Amino acid sequence: MSQNPPADTTDNPAKSMDELVALCKRRGFIFPASEIYDGINGFWDYGPLGTELKNNLRDAWWNDMVKSPPAGPDGEPLSILGVDSAIIQHPKTWAASGHVEGFNDPMVDDTETKQRFRADQLVGAWIGIGDRPELSAEEREERFFSPDRTIIASTAGEAAQTLLDDKKLLKPLRITSPFRGHLRDPKRILIADIEDPNGNRGQIQLELIPVDDIRNQPDQIPSPYSSKMGVLTEPRQFNLMFRTFVGATSGEDNVAYLRPETAQGIFLNYKNVLDTMRVKVPFGIAQIGKAFRNEVTPRNFIFRSREFEQMEIEWFCPPEDARKWYEFWCEVRKNWWKSIGLTDANLQMREHENDELAHYAKQGCGCFDVEYRFPFTYPGYGELEGVADRTDFDLRQHEEYSGAKLKYFDQERNEHYFPYVIEPSAGLSRGVLALLCEAFTPTPERKGSKYVMNFHPRMAPIQCAVFPLVNKDGMPEVARKLYDDLRRKYAVQFDVKQSIGKRYARMDEGGTPYCFTIDSETLENNTVTWRERDTAAQDRISIDRVAAFLADRIGG
Ligand code: ATP
Repeated sequence: MSQNPPADTTDNPAKSMDELVALCKRRGFIFPASEIYDGINGFWDYGPLGTELKNNLRDAWWNDMVKSPPAGPDGEPLSILGVDSAIIQHPKTWAASGHVEGFNDPMVDDTETKQRFRADQLVGAWIGIGDRPELSAEEREERFFSPDRTIIASTAGEAAQTLLDDKKLLKPLRITSPFRGHLRDPKRILIADIEDPNGNRGQIQLELIPVDDIRNQPDQIPSPYSSKMGVLTEPRQFNLMFRTFVGATSGEDNVAYLRPETAQGIFLNYKNVLDTMRVKVPFGIAQIGKAFRNEVTPRNFIFRSREFEQMEIEWFCPPEDARKWYEFWCEVRKNWWKSIGLTDANLQMREHENDELAHYAKQGCGCFDVEYRFPFTYPGYGELEGVADRTDFDLRQHEEYSGAKLKYFDQERNEHYFPYVIEPSAGLSRGVLALLCEAFTPTPERKGSKYVMNFHPRMAPIQCAVFPLVNKDGMPEVARKLYDDLRRKYAVQFDVKQSIGKRYARMDEGGTPYCFTIDSETLENNTVTWRERDTAAQDRISIDRVAAFLADRIGG
């Protein structure tokens, strides 16, 4: 196990996921699915504001990648076409793609509590107090495997956040420093200083326990549920695809799968698109839609759920150009997330190490993840999108399994070949979560609103609100007229209830960038008060200029 010295420290405490989840429920962004039946683990429903936010993200992606994509590395416009394929495809699809054989996670059971978790999502916490910090690296490593705690988390950063959020886990120790660790290599190890009630100081270390360690030393890894040694089973492979049956009989002959990724629906239609749309390689096919994975441990709000949405492009290019396009897409995709409001500090590109590469990417130039620093991975990062070189793996496999001829005929070269495929594969649901995390800003100093959601105006579920200051004296009529004018172009909210301060606070939590209030002065001089969400600053503007004001700031 590596024992590198800490490379980076940070004192920025992560935002609280509990508060964000509560706000999402209170303001109608996201609700637990089947809530009146106590919920169903791994499934979520989008409320009115969440639906708008998700639609805005989806539409921005479709617009910027399909309708009006960026120019290619040579300045030529890209050609990208959309499809919308069935969720259930012929079961051979998933044999050809490798999912039946290889889309597995290692699952471990606690034989006493009967609980289950993913072996590659286990973090051991070594807690050293008093005399232990001066132990040598080797001694610490030895002791690491008799830890007091294990936590389920896929990165040490995520485990650190679990400890910070759950004070009972650490009791009676107190963490006296921020967690520090290798931000460039966040999966490895994190360290923080601790103190016990007698003032003895020490350290806590968090490190990911690799699957092989469970396999080789099952007696020395405590269960995360009971802390007991020797109660964990060896990891078993568990296929993540949801099975169902097509037709009236439910035998093995009728088995079908809910798609675990949208990509295969693109490969199945690659020939149809080529034959009908007069495109030439290089070109892309895009799809947005639902995907289903029977995740062993769905966690972290909508980050890892069992039903989610993806936005995927398969970019078909000549094999010798794969590297050029791979680099191009890495750059384009990172910049795109920035353009819709994610900050540079919270984004990083991380190249997969060889042992992480998916089966199809092994021969190609690799896989880059666009990673976002979510509150629960802080100070580490979690995957938001993967840009992979899938080589010609999928087309070759489908040709072999289906017998259809899937090679491309290049007229200029007078040659048949399988194009290589570069795949930017983004999570729409994870993108929504990143936007929510980025926007979520506690505002203890502000009167009225406890939080502001400062979405990029292009993403905001409600773009502006129109309020009559009071619900009388001719104000509602003027406000209503302005509302009717604006709603033809923008997502506008009209609200007459409660004090104006409460209405502003509601809009701050919903992330509405601008509010316009009709007051007594409006009736005298045709000006309205406009209020800006991020600063709470107010000013007056002529009612006739409101539409132009919004066009300047939001577009349209
Ligand atoms: P992870 O390692 O987090 O399980 P992955 O590498 O298996 O993800 P891909 O197969 O590359 O993910 O899927 C592409 C994208 O789909 C991911 O970057 C992520 O945004 C999204 N995604 C994958 N699994 C889930 C899930 N269970 N819930 C929500 N989004 C997901």
